[in-house]
Amino acid sequence: MITIAIDGPAGAGKSTLSRKLAENFGYIYVDTGALYRTVGLKFLNLGFDTDLSCNISEILEKTTVDIRFVDGQQRVFLDDKDVSDDIRTPKASMMASAVSAKPEVRAFLIDMQRKLAKENNIVMDGRDIGTVVLPDATVKIYLTASADARAKRRFDELVLKGEKVTYKEVYDDMVQRDYNDMSRKIAPLKKADDAILADTSDLDLAESLELLIKIVNEGK
Ligand code: C5P
Repeated sequence: MITIAIDGPAGAGKSTLSRKLAENFGYIYVDTGALYRTVGLKFLNLGFDTDLSCNISEILEKTTVDIRFVDGQQRVFLDDKDVSDDIRTPKASMMASAVSAKPEVRAFLIDMQRKLAKENNIVMDGRDIGTVVLPDATVKIYLTASADARAKRRFDELVLKGEKVTYKEVYDDMVQRDYNDMSRKIAPLKKADDAILADTSDLDLAESLELLIKIVNEGK
């Protein structure tokens, strides 16, 4: 199977570009952030805060997280309910970041990710795909952009969806989330030694996609 691992900080355009890249090559696109967001939502729904003072394993034992593909699009299910839209709020983002630092949560989700990569040609995006989940991926890309460029894209996305947020809130949340993701002990966000760095600060969507297609064609 061909596996394309794409890691990088929040707002670097990973999901949009990974989806288009997968379309271009006829592969499946797997958004692993959605899995952490789904687990985060479970804890939010139970009324917990990001300090997660609870027995995480006990809760995970009573939790099911599923990925299903509907018309080729990934949907995520929490305890059999489609939560693909509910996970896209600023609150769910912060909760995803909090739960993702817990070893129990990472262990809970890793087999599902590896199984998908074993059975399909995929583009998989996340924070630890090239370093932990698929260390033998065919091509690894570390996708990044300046914090300003990333916050602006995320802000435009949220405004378009009707979320009431300010640019400063989006910027501060993003920097905080990057810090959490890069400084956690388990599976921190970092570039794999053999990943190719793609900086899209000064590229538009079409140019970024062109760059990624070139990297994949050269690497596969
Ligand atoms: O990619 P997205 O922004 O949806 O990810 C939400 C959060 O999930 C990230 O901030 C990160 O904490 C966590 N995550 C992770 N490992 C992955 C994908 C996402 O820890 N492979």
